[in-house]
Amino acid sequence: MRKIITGVLFCILLLLCVSCEKTSPDAEKKGKLQVVVSLFPLYDFTRTIGGDKVNVSLLLPPGMEAHSFEPKPDDIIRANKADVFIYTNRYMEPWAVSIASGLDTRKTLVEDASQGGHFLRAGSDTEHDHEGNNGEGMDPHIWLDFANAQTMVDNILSALVAKDPSHRGDYTANAEAYKAKLRELDEKYRTGLSHCDKHIFLHGGHYAFGYLANRYGLTYESAYAVSANAEPSPAKIARLIRQIQKNGLHYIYTEELVEPRIADTISRETGATVLKLHGAHNISKNDLAAGATFLSLMEQNLKNLRIGLQCK
Ligand SMILES: [Zn+2]
Repeated sequence: MRKIITGVLFCILLLLCVSCEKTSPDAEKKGKLQVVVSLFPLYDFTRTIGGDKVNVSLLLPPGMEAHSFEPKPDDIIRANKADVFIYTNRYMEPWAVSIASGLDTRKTLVEDASQGGHFLRAGSDTEHDHEGNNGEGMDPHIWLDFANAQTMVDNILSALVAKDPSHRGDYTANAEAYKAKLRELDEKYRTGLSHCDKHIFLHGGHYAFGYLANRYGLTYESAYAVSANAEPSPAKIARLIRQIQKNGLHYIYTEELVEPRIADTISRETGATVLKLHGAHNISKNDLAAGATFLSLMEQNLKNLRIGLQCK
């Protein structure tokens, strides 16, 4: 009897604590699965699969360049409070692996979204790119291969279902519908890039589009290595300029969230026009507010690729 009374008292105290902690902005989170993710693709995939059953929060502040992100104590606390913590892979976010190793796995399920995905070696034609990723040099940008993106969706789905099996039906239906859209996107790329005058694209940013190039049979070179830690050498920039001249290219690509300094230099030297390719690691505040999605960013990339590659 005493045990029961103690138990009931404990429950009441717990309820009181929970209710006093919840103020109005948190009220709508009540009862929802709390998911913390590292990068924008995971954010977009998870909110699509989870719908109104899940509250997703993105660890990276909007507009923050993903490779230079370092978690603050507050970020670690957010991950600790989550029901599910999802990261892209250990090459992309080595810091996420250390956060994950400190989490209480009875409370927080940790999901490496890349499980079962296929990896390419980091930047085959870049000079050096082994910084800080255990020396294995795998290219972390797996979401830019849309078959890998589907694998990531499957992994997120199984994490949500494991923590919240009561909504398995909703989550599965949403994930299937989204994977169908990714397959459609893949098909659009395949047909959209199949009749082009050029088969090489050059990039003033870091080596983010190796998966995309590989999937659609294109050649790709970038000024920076996989995570843009070191400045590109003058020899590398000279090589890109020669490639533009040799291949008669009219466009040079630049990336999101950083100054297009190198692309501008190459543009001045060659007369090539600068176009954007969005790596979708993270998005700006404005894009987020304007409702940008992974799919909308990829559609825009396809448009710009078709311009640069002079596709019919
Ligand atoms: Zn990157």
